[in-house]
Amino acid sequence: MKYSYFLPHICGNKRRSMMWSLWRCSSMTGSSAFTNVRVFKCFRQFVKNYNISARMPEAIAFQGVSDHSGLHKFSVNESETFWGALASQRLSWISPFNTVQNCNFSQGKIKWFEGGKLNVSVNCLDRHVHTCPERVALIWERDEPGTEVKFTYRELLELTCRLGNLLKRLGVRRGDCVTLYMPSCPLAVASMLACARIGAVHNVVFAGFSAEALADRIRDTQSSTVITVNQGVRGGKVIDLKRTVDQAVQNCPSVQQVLVAMRTENSVAMTDRDVPLEEEMMKEDVVCEPVTMDSEDVLFLLYTSGSTGKPKGLVHTQAGYLLYAAVTHRYVFSYQDGDVFGCMADIGWITGHSYGVYGPLCNGGTTVLFESTPVYPDPGRYWETVQRLGISQFYGAPTAIRLLLKYGDEWVQKYDRSCLKTLGSVGEPINREAWEWYHRVVGGGRCPVIDTWWQTETGGICIAPRPSDPDAEIIPGMAMRPFYGIKPALLDAKVVAEPSGAGWGSGALCISMAWPGMARTIHNDHQRFIETYFQPYPGYFFTGDGAYCSKEGYYQIVGRLDDVINVSGHRLGTAELEDVVVCTIKCVYVFVVLKKGVEVQEDVLAQQLREMVSRNIAKYASPDYIQVVGRLPKTRSGKIMRRVLRKVVERKTDDLGDLSTLDDSEAVHEVIRGHQRLHGGSKRE
Ligand code: AMP
Repeated sequence: MKYSYFLPHICGNKRRSMMWSLWRCSSMTGSSAFTNVRVFKCFRQFVKNYNISARMPEAIAFQGVSDHSGLHKFSVNESETFWGALASQRLSWISPFNTVQNCNFSQGKIKWFEGGKLNVSVNCLDRHVHTCPERVALIWERDEPGTEVKFTYRELLELTCRLGNLLKRLGVRRGDCVTLYMPSCPLAVASMLACARIGAVHNVVFAGFSAEALADRIRDTQSSTVITVNQGVRGGKVIDLKRTVDQAVQNCPSVQQVLVAMRTENSVAMTDRDVPLEEEMMKEDVVCEPVTMDSEDVLFLLYTSGSTGKPKGLVHTQAGYLLYAAVTHRYVFSYQDGDVFGCMADIGWITGHSYGVYGPLCNGGTTVLFESTPVYPDPGRYWETVQRLGISQFYGAPTAIRLLLKYGDEWVQKYDRSCLKTLGSVGEPINREAWEWYHRVVGGGRCPVIDTWWQTETGGICIAPRPSDPDAEIIPGMAMRPFYGIKPALLDAKVVAEPSGAGWGSGALCISMAWPGMARTIHNDHQRFIETYFQPYPGYFFTGDGAYCSKEGYYQIVGRLDDVINVSGHRLGTAELEDVVVCTIKCVYVFVVLKKGVEVQEDVLAQQLREMVSRNIAKYASPDYIQVVGRLPKTRSGKIMRRVLRKVVERKTDDLGDLSTLDDSEAVHEVIRGHQRLHGGSKRE
């Protein structure tokens, strides 16, 4: 199937396609009575298609699609037509792609839009500069409240081009990997886009990781260039990021240069290897020719923790990732032109990549880069920011929501939140109490709360209550509906069962067909990619999470599968048990760690656990089976915290691994002492 290069504006196109099809329909028929019937049927179909195409213009050409569920069905049954149409309409191509997809799960082969050529930074910047140069692209919500800085598309393009030229001058070439160790700020976004512009690969390392963790990632990618800032500022605290980079690069022989931007006015020691970023950047031209990239060239690497603790550098490529980020951003959050999208995640995580940077910018949107914390200078920070910046979609993490809930409603109600339209949640299951507070207090009962399930591996949101038919129900704490092109399957632990999309039950959450946003491989370890994601259930992508599917076909994520106990065939995950504990003892931080290999028989406990899940209320939790740890040091990645806590529970505290993303790593030792007090030296758990 061939697709044309950057078709004209979709609205005009949609109208033309409708008129053409009606004309074709009438001219194909002979007798006048027959003609009238055909034209009438055709017209009726178009009226139906027109309704759904008001939301997705491409749908006018999708046969038999008249509502959301029809569109979802079409997207999985006619996946090539669906993604082909979206890719040609929504991305700007230098030359068209030849094939929509070429995927084979058993070989771990994932390829989309082969033959197509494009440049991601052109898609995120230049094309919007042509139509609306003065539109605000970024709002940098600095740590210091009330000091936000706005960047228009024109300004961001200039910044990106200067940086791209600087990187080229310093010898960075197409295919080289540049490591970024920076807080969320416009220079970080411009650095990502500058890499994309000149064909380099970026590897953003969350600027909270330790020197050793950073060094591991630099070595794995063999980066010769690192970009950082002199100091970070978060929650009123100054963090010496450059010093951490200095320590890290001592053990990274590949590094030839470190570009240092100045976030604060404090000077830092510079060596021969260091390049003052702003100073050198200002010597560069504001025009930088974008390189022509293949759809499947690498765009970025992003490390995520594996269940073994050894980080995996997941590889995302150009066209498929960008398209999926843009389309999910548009439809999951009902993002409209003029909205201000407030993603609170740091750019060091996939959420920051897909919904802080690539999705919104590809859609020509306005995105907020949040540098601070939810409680600085006080627990009203998020809502004061919402009011001041006019945020329409607020996308945050359940951990933060639970924390703020504890401080009370007045911190929210002080501020005008009438600009809010949608509230999103990501990163872990959102327990019912937090969901309801978010909906009732933050959203004043008028904004849908969208619990979005996805992972670094999926590139973008895969299950969420929206899109759906207008006003379709949303069930608290449930991710619910698969996104377009996503076909989930729940599989049994041993035997591969049929996909249970239409049935109900629980199992390992897998996805049975490829989608454009999925990771392509693990950097330097394709075999591990195949073994982790495609071998556990041949023919399926295995997410590592457990899920439950209701009779209505709604999905509920129950947590990581290595944190699930099987109670007489009923899978209970950490999420359900954490919900129980939060409801019962009213603490803010709860991580339930399930001991591996525990067999729970059909007995009173099993019955109680099952009931508690089905009623979604909690009364019982037996310390014999469940270790509950309250008041924890915070992290923004539940996966890392769980790994640490599992080691505490299993008494492997000599080897806790990297604790550098914790806000207060000392508190882990308090948890260890608390655990010893509770359980003494015995091996009872
Ligand atoms: P990461 O790749 O670090 O972003 O973590 C992805 C993991 O976070 C998933 O595999 C889930 O275990 C968990 N997760 C993310 N979003 C949700 C959600 N909405 N509900 C439940 N778990 C989630």
